[in-house]
Amino acid sequence: MRIVTLIVGAVVALLAAALFWFDRQFEEPEAELVPSVAGVLEAKSVLAVFAHPDDEQLVTGLLLRAKSRDGAITRMITATKGEAGKQTPIVARQEDLGVVRHAEALKSGFALGLDEQEVWDYPDSGVADADYEELVRRLMDRMAIWQPDLVVTFWPESGFSNHPDHMRMGQATRDAVYRIRSTSPETAPAIIAYVLAPRLMMSRFGGESGQLVASNQPAPTHAMPGEADAKIRGWEIHASQRNYVRDVYGMPAWFLHRVNDKEFYYVEEFSDQP
Ligand SMILES: [Zn+2]
Repeated sequence: MRIVTLIVGAVVALLAAALFWFDRQFEEPEAELVPSVAGVLEAKSVLAVFAHPDDEQLVTGLLLRAKSRDGAITRMITATKGEAGKQTPIVARQEDLGVVRHAEALKSGFALGLDEQEVWDYPDSGVADADYEELVRRLMDRMAIWQPDLVVTFWPESGFSNHPDHMRMGQATRDAVYRIRSTSPETAPAIIAYVLAPRLMMSRFGGESGQLVASNQPAPTHAMPGEADAKIRGWEIHASQRNYVRDVYGMPAWFLHRVNDKEFYYVEEFSDQP
């Protein structure tokens, strides 16, 4: 009986140690941990710019807390309808996927409390081939109308996952902000927050692509709670991607988001803001 207790105790201790180690892979201890990136930067109007329906799953904490905790206006642009995505599980005819995922993006935005959102019609997996100048101009037009003070997007050099659409949207968003700053700085967004992947996890478990992401990212300046419940709900809303986490990471979404419980950002703040 005593031996059984000892063995069970050892196994539990081992599991706890393994879980603790695994959890550490999703941390960036150097980043400043804040309750809300929008809140700490005093942003009153937030614009998220992403490539695909479900990309906002990376920033649920930032968007939810900006709205519910800090009372900011939140908006989002999704550049494509995600029509080229792999369905997991299959919930629609592939030729209808763009319509289905367009709707899923709107439902997800509604659940996150967005005040406004637009889903554009750039080709999924073809954003990098689209007219770049036109893309930057469209983003500048929306920024001129919406006047966000905080813009959140992908880090252009890594795109969170090396996806060319992500990288191109990060680049175009950064260029749009820079161009407004150079022509009419008084109306330009004051802050860009780039969402980053946890580097240890990416370099240890992400294979070659993950190592590239980790090495092309800057160190995050900020960390904040990721609102795991919203992410888990988000995968229910994005029904055609419900099994994505299990397929890619080999673990259920509820587990991944409990362990990977923070969002990391590199914040670029423009000090000459009037
Ligand atoms: Zn994406």
